[in-house]
Amino acid sequence: MKIGAPKEIEAGEARVAMTPDSALQLQKLGYDCVIETGAGQAAGFTDAAYEAAGVEVVKTAAALWKDADIVAKVRPPTTAEAKKFREGQLVISFFYPGQNEKLMETAKAAGTNIIAMDMVPRISRAQKMDALSSMANIAGYRAVIEAGNNFGRFFTGQVTAAGKVPPAKVLVVGAGVAGLAAIGTATSLGAITYAFDVRPEVAEQIESMGAEFVFLEFSADELPDGAATGGYAPPQSPEFQAKQLAKFREIAPEMDIVITTALIPGRPAPKLWTKDMVEAMKPGSVIIDLAAERGGNCELTKADERIVTDNGVVIIGYTDFPSKMAAQSSTLYSTNIRHMMTDLTPGKDGTVVHNMEDDVIRGATAVFAGAITFPPPPPKVA
Ligand code: NAD
Repeated sequence: MKIGAPKEIEAGEARVAMTPDSALQLQKLGYDCVIETGAGQAAGFTDAAYEAAGVEVVKTAAALWKDADIVAKVRPPTTAEAKKFREGQLVISFFYPGQNEKLMETAKAAGTNIIAMDMVPRISRAQKMDALSSMANIAGYRAVIEAGNNFGRFFTGQVTAAGKVPPAKVLVVGAGVAGLAAIGTATSLGAITYAFDVRPEVAEQIESMGAEFVFLEFSADELPDGAATGGYAPPQSPEFQAKQLAKFREIAPEMDIVITTALIPGRPAPKLWTKDMVEAMKPGSVIIDLAAERGGNCELTKADERIVTDNGVVIIGYTDFPSKMAAQSSTLYSTNIRHMMTDLTPGKDGTVVHNMEDDVIRGATAVFAGAITFPPPPPKVA
């Protein structure tokens, strides 16, 4: 069978779903590899590099979609791409099935199978295919680099002949995959880093990376009856939220850089950094809001924009951080795809066995054999 990657057509998307390295690995699984000319250009992979790795370069997207039994993409197929779906074809990409019902209907009608990389269950066996985590890791790193680029001072403290420079203070809100990557990057650059998450169990991870966990203090009479766990209020209680905002309000004037990554799956981003907190920050401070696509954690964030407030605070709501590091993100994403293909190819004979009894494959499959299979049942194993 042939696996192919077209050039991404979404404006500004620089990633590609197959690299020369991943193509070599796919060939070891028995597949022939095809790429649309120029598909890897923006990520630094030339047609010549693909050819040297044994990949056939085709001239048009139409030829690629016609040729490939399996099409690997980054972004969900566009309406124009969906018109090229064929019976028995397998399309693997970020797909967001919950928001793409029409696209699932098109695939169902065409008899095309869909694997949504964003639906890979977050269980240990599937970590090697967890493309959301790969991309969040890059976004967290890049958020700090972007902050540094917009912050007119050092991260690390210095004693120079011209005077003493204090270290920057960085606050990371939300210590999931992106948040932990941001903490690691900020501490390695020498900043004093603080982090907050609604899950107290991440305190140890935060501290092991050299950051300080921002604790909220609760006295017994502030906690709702029976709801307290280890002196911690339930995250969504009004008491907890009020304490969280009060704490942020208290520390806002001291923070030079705030990176927000707070996310509750399936919901709009919680508003955690309010207008008055921005107003309390020093001129030259920077906020990087990784949750911009879901409405932002900061009240003033505008998705895909860099704004400067009247008091001189820079607020960045870019939603394409992984694409800004296209070489790295294409390498990791194409490796996630290659691992998915390994599980889909038990015989290593270039033939897909789409085993719907496999928790990971089942979980990620949105359309199969002319039926919509989203949402999947909960995974059986942890
Ligand atoms: P994750 O689920 O691993 O982490 C989110 C964290 O936020 C969790 O630890 C959760 O406990 C915490 N959280 C939830 N509510 C909170 C609250 N009220 N206060 C503090 N913490 C809270 O998610 P992730 O994979 O790290 O992704 C983080 C964000 O980055 C998401 O919004 C994702 O969409 C975004 N992202 C953005 C880009 C970009 O280019 N802008 C790229 C990749 C990911």
